[in-house]
Amino acid sequence: MQFSRLRLNGFKSFVDPTDLVIAHGLTGVVGPNGCGKSNLLEALRWVMGETRPKAMRGGGMEDVIFAGTATRPARNFAEVAITIDNSDRLAPAGFNDQDSLEVVRRITRDAGSAFKANSKDARARDIQMLFADASTGSHSPALVRQGQISELINAKPKDRRRILEEAAGISGLYQRRHEAELK
Ligand code: ATP
Ligand code: MG
Repeated sequence: MQFSRLRLNGFKSFVDPTDLVIAHGLTGVVGPNGCGKSNLLEALRWVMGETRPKAMRGGGMEDVIFAGTATRPARNFAEVAITIDNSDRLAPAGFNDQDSLEVVRRITRDAGSAFKANSKDARARDIQMLFADASTGSHSPALVRQGQISELINAKPKDRRRILEEAAGISGLYQRRHEAELK
């Protein structure tokens, strides 16, 4: 599975619809300070099911919605869509009926957020599992946040192990075991 396209609408500074092609081999995003590089990575994490507003540098999840500027009013929803090339048909059951898979997350003020996979309603947990099993996921070590390299160097061994588990693609198994133990 390979990301092929990212679309944003009303997400943080990306107030106007923005459509990005994710070419094979893309490894970094460059641009002047404040142009939205970190916001882009946050959009990727968010559409994969991130639930912690702090990971989005916000106090509440609605802070991802364009908050307005001196010249433009605030929006009342934000939407991020990720297109995944599934021509290798490696997506898990339930998501594997087409050569491409589009996951959309939309948040509306006072109404929370919802997911769709190929236009059908999807549960947050299923979307999180989809990406966790593909060893990407919102906590993925494949997405390197600003300041994260120094955090890695200074991490406690237990926290470092968690990062290695994400990279090995087994964190979805831990989540399933935890849920089985609760039942
Ligand atoms: P740097 O190089 O300094 O790390 P960057 O390219 O990572 O910069 P971001 O942090 O992604 O930049 O973008 C910051 C911009 O996004 C700021 O101008 C901030 O005001 C704007 N921004 C963040 N959240 C919102 C929001 N909810 N509504 C409108 N603008 C927002
Ligand atoms: Mg930044």
